[in-house]
Amino acid sequence: MTGHRPSSEMLKMLQTAPNIYLVLSPELYILTASNLYLEATETTRETIVGKHIFEAFPENPELPDASGVKNINASLQEVLRTGKPHKMRIQRYDVPDIHHPGKFITRYWDPSHTPVFDDNGALSYIIQLANNVTEQVLADKVRQKLEISERHFRLLADLVPAKISNARPNGEVTYFNQRWLDYAHLSFEELRDFGYYQMMHPDEIPVFTERLAAAAKEKKPIEMEMRFKNAAGDYRWHLNIASPVLDDNGEITMWVGSTTEIQRLKEDDQRKSDFIGMVSHELKTPLTSLTAILQVVETKLRKSDDTFVTGALEKANQQTKRMSQLINGFLNISRLESGKIAIERRSFLIGGLIREVIEEVSLAGTTHIFELQSCGKTVVQADQPKISSVLSNLLSNAVKYSPKGSRIWVSCEAFEGELRVSIADEGIGIRPEDREKIFERFYRVKSNSHISGFGIGLYLSAEIVEHHGGRIWVESETGKGSVFYFTLPLNKSAARNQ
Ligand code: ADP
Repeated sequence: MTGHRPSSEMLKMLQTAPNIYLVLSPELYILTASNLYLEATETTRETIVGKHIFEAFPENPELPDASGVKNINASLQEVLRTGKPHKMRIQRYDVPDIHHPGKFITRYWDPSHTPVFDDNGALSYIIQLANNVTEQVLADKVRQKLEISERHFRLLADLVPAKISNARPNGEVTYFNQRWLDYAHLSFEELRDFGYYQMMHPDEIPVFTERLAAAAKEKKPIEMEMRFKNAAGDYRWHLNIASPVLDDNGEITMWVGSTTEIQRLKEDDQRKSDFIGMVSHELKTPLTSLTAILQVVETKLRKSDDTFVTGALEKANQQTKRMSQLINGFLNISRLESGKIAIERRSFLIGGLIREVIEEVSLAGTTHIFELQSCGKTVVQADQPKISSVLSNLLSNAVKYSPKGSRIWVSCEAFEGELRVSIADEGIGIRPEDREKIFERFYRVKSNSHISGFGIGLYLSAEIVEHHGGRIWVESETGKGSVFYFTLPLNKSAARNQ
């Protein structure tokens, strides 16, 4: 039995109440809708009044498993059966898009159905009250997704063998993975608040801080080999990489740190260095005696008429000299790596030294043309034998890696408190990908492997220059030639330039 229909006055009143609802007849035809309902569903009263609810609001056909119609219908049937209000859980129920016929707009609702009875207790109409909760639901979904991906990230970060951390752009650490906490034997808060920098080796803190600041400016990652103290108090070598994560505007949103222990590699490396040092040392003793013997013999036979013997002796002398240069190179490497390289400065004329080294390099019988420009009377305060070996390396490389008969320019320029020496050749050049690496220990360009060498000359040169507070770099064009530059700081009082 159905009750009295609401009067049109009653319906009018219902239309303006500030809630989102539909008024349905007991047969589920739409009697009216509140203004806010029309707004939320983007429909007009004329198009829906008089229609069956599911004719006015059909299921979105693009959602194969949509259950809005079924669920709402079930709720309405329950209200009809029991005569009691029924509140539904949040439902997805898309509404037709009036601007794009056939299309639907995603909507989530929290509908409830309330029966209204007339004075005789017969069902007069049903109010379907619903709030548009689409925004909250979508925001919840994004949050859930983020939570899942965060959980994923942490799981991964705890599985990898590296120590992983996250920090805000201001350096405040927001995350350390389990390996960090295990290594430090500290809680997250302890490690964050005072542990991280205390674990770093004091020797490396200033360099790390400086490089991190530079990386933040350039928005580039840094990579540094450095020591971190473990819970037992031992410093162990790590490869520490800090990479900035940039947002769409190119601003840093966070730093991701990855710290991998390389102690075993370092120890292996050290053993190799020790071995090279030992071998070189052992080779040096017999070679020194050989050189001395050859020199004595040479003096004795100087006046001999046998040109073959004198020529052979001179060649033997050259070869022993070359060999001791090579051995000295290795000895220097092992000295350098055990921190035993000491810079002994004294004042000397750079031009004079360059001329000496050019002569020495030319003695080996090259056919290159050397041009010395403006090295004049510049006085430097540096370790002369060591700068001599830098020049010797750079000049003999210029000879080695350029065709016979080509020119090699050496020039000096004093500028802003430093002297810049450049050595330019017309040789094979160096490809961009090799340019940084040629200053590394034992690095040789693969395509030049037919030219003899050990890949230590530039490494040693770089170390020597840097120990003097200078810089070394190369500019090059493949097939055209290379220019190696190095700088030495000029002591103002010592610089009587030109
Ligand atoms: P070595 O010459 O003994 O191999 P270096 O450390 O002196 O070792 O040089 C490293 C590498 O850099 C060389 O193997 C060579 O490929 C490249 N190189 C150095 N100087 C030059 C140059 N002037 N022109 C072209 N390539 C060069």
